[in-house]
Amino acid sequence: MKKDFTPTLLDFGPLQIYLARHFGFCYGVENAIEIAFRTVEENPGKKIYLLSEMIHNPQVNADLQAHGVDFLQDTYGKQLIPFDDVTADDIVLIPAFGTTIAIEKMLNEKGIPTEKYNTTCPFVEKVWNRSEVIAKNNYTIVIHGKPNHEETRATFSHAAANAPAVVVKDMKQAKELAKYITGEKKAVDFFAEFNGQYSNNFDPAKDLKRIGVVNQTTMLASDTQAIADFLKQTMIEKYKLTGNDIEKHFADTRDTLCYATNDNQAAVTGMLETDADLAIVVGGYNSSNTSHLVELCEVKLPTYFISNEEKILSGENILHYNFHTKQEILTSGFLPAKETVKILITSGASCPDALVEGIINKLSCYFNVKNTIPEMIAFFQ
Ligand code: SF4
Repeated sequence: MKKDFTPTLLDFGPLQIYLARHFGFCYGVENAIEIAFRTVEENPGKKIYLLSEMIHNPQVNADLQAHGVDFLQDTYGKQLIPFDDVTADDIVLIPAFGTTIAIEKMLNEKGIPTEKYNTTCPFVEKVWNRSEVIAKNNYTIVIHGKPNHEETRATFSHAAANAPAVVVKDMKQAKELAKYITGEKKAVDFFAEFNGQYSNNFDPAKDLKRIGVVNQTTMLASDTQAIADFLKQTMIEKYKLTGNDIEKHFADTRDTLCYATNDNQAAVTGMLETDADLAIVVGGYNSSNTSHLVELCEVKLPTYFISNEEKILSGENILHYNFHTKQEILTSGFLPAKETVKILITSGASCPDALVEGIINKLSCYFNVKNTIPEMIAFFQ
């Protein structure tokens, strides 16, 4: 059921897995993968490039590379293959995150059609449309997102085509931005502080009087809400707004998170009501939406962010990613010595379900389980 966020219990006896009600692949990712593989199938002999990683999942990307698809840029925009090597005979796939207007224009000028091979997710396009509406009403667009993330770079490019735009990566930066709104900080300092995060000709003295907030579709819902509320309050205090006049300075937009981010985050919140021993979150280490699921879990219980079952080295040791320090670390004794161990499991929007199944399979090897996975599947069927 769509609005039921209670987890599903897979009762193996001494091992109890609580699976998030919503997890894994979203519409945008499924759609992008389908278009990519169909393109490979329909164009034998053609050189096929992807602008950058299709989605933030190493297995899916490796699979595409195995089918002869090459990446032109890495996830941070670093060039892997020069654009000069790409010719009008080639196919260039635009990933689910979308791309910048400048790159799309450059490809079109080379005679490469981008429309047919564009897998930009409609929920990302929805953010671009929202930005356009805000821009038409003469607001500056504040984008809550990771400045180097492909999607934020693409959204920034589309937003900046219509209005002044600035990216804030977190509440800390939003608070600094607010100081330029109130005048606490000098406009001249803005350029160094927000270097690389503002549009051409941005004038902090003029362009921070009317703002609207949109976000990268995979941010933490509560973070975006807090940032929007904070900036709105800043405007209320600065301009002594009382109610109906708030729109003079702050566009009242709802967050632009996509449905999958919302559902996956709500399902984790629902799952965390279970009194469990640990949580396992599955996904690519550079996946924004997955790291936010980790963030939610680690507040409540020991949480292990892993990319696949091979990271579970034994019933004793697990190799997992600390996204705060950006390092993979080894933890011993991750499974408590208890009669019944309860584990919460979820995965990010770019994670194939088969990886989650592999992890459940592996975990079940360390317990004297009463049901096999096929029996469990039969039970749910
Ligand atoms: S996470 Fe959301 S915006 Fe991103 S591809 Fe999936 S559905 Fe689209």
